[in-house]
Amino acid sequence: MTAEVAAPMIKASAVNKYFGDLHVLREITLEVPRGQVVVVLGPSGSGKSTLCRAINRLEPINSGEIGVDGVPLPAEGKALAALRADVGMVFQSFNLFAHKTIVENVMLAPMKVRKASKDEARKTAMELLERVGIANQADKYPAQLSGGQQQRVAIARALAMRPKVMLFDEPTSALDPEMVQEVLDVMTGLAKDGMTMLVVTHEMGFARRAADRVIFMADGEIVEDTTPEEFFTAPKSERAKDFLGKIL
Ligand code: ADP
Ligand code: MG
Repeated sequence: MTAEVAAPMIKASAVNKYFGDLHVLREITLEVPRGQVVVVLGPSGSGKSTLCRAINRLEPINSGEIGVDGVPLPAEGKALAALRADVGMVFQSFNLFAHKTIVENVMLAPMKVRKASKDEARKTAMELLERVGIANQADKYPAQLSGGQQQRVAIARALAMRPKVMLFDEPTSALDPEMVQEVLDVMTGLAKDGMTMLVVTHEMGFARRAADRVIFMADGEIVEDTTPEEFFTAPKSERAKDFLGKIL
């Protein structure tokens, strides 16, 4: 047998990003193997969102390289659109199209970007809405759904592109407390199904239960990269201890 080593699903090498004089990503080097769930923690302003956006090339970087499934992310053009389709992203704000129904929201991108037929797109959308527990709301409009339901639709919409990787940037931060768990449950299901995930969250319970790995960022740097067990019981850096002291 040939010892073929699979490329990491996400690979960032010495990534630097500046906003003007502000150095927001400092020599970020990171490999996420296929199927791994990485939770990214860190204080506000530490660069977590910028890292997510850089992986998706929503944000250009100043130096370094980022690859997804062994393919370097191009800076622009058609190749970028294709690669971006491999990376699903879910934000704090769900941004569903208000004048489209739930199922139409999920059908849209596959029809536009993947050139799926309407029937095909609808079939996939309904399967995904089933998966996030919301198929019975398919013909409603976003405003008729709760925040937690809308965020589950946003997850289904991202999955409709059949991404290789899912990035979540504080997906539950805008939700009322009673709706947080239903969204985390969907994410836990995805993790169990083997999706490669990078999750920025303040939900420490989720980090402990669902993460294979915790990355702690501060001031644009990866300060710790370890297991949840290690991170929560024996953080090494002062900055992580300080962070945990404030949130736990
Ligand atoms: P986090 O998600 O960890 O809170 P961000 O990645 O949003 O951190 O921000 C990192 C730093 O970059 C912060 O100091 C923030 O103010 C700054 N920043 C983020 N986006 C921009 C932008 N578009 N222009 C200028 N500064 C930005
Ligand atoms: Mg952020």
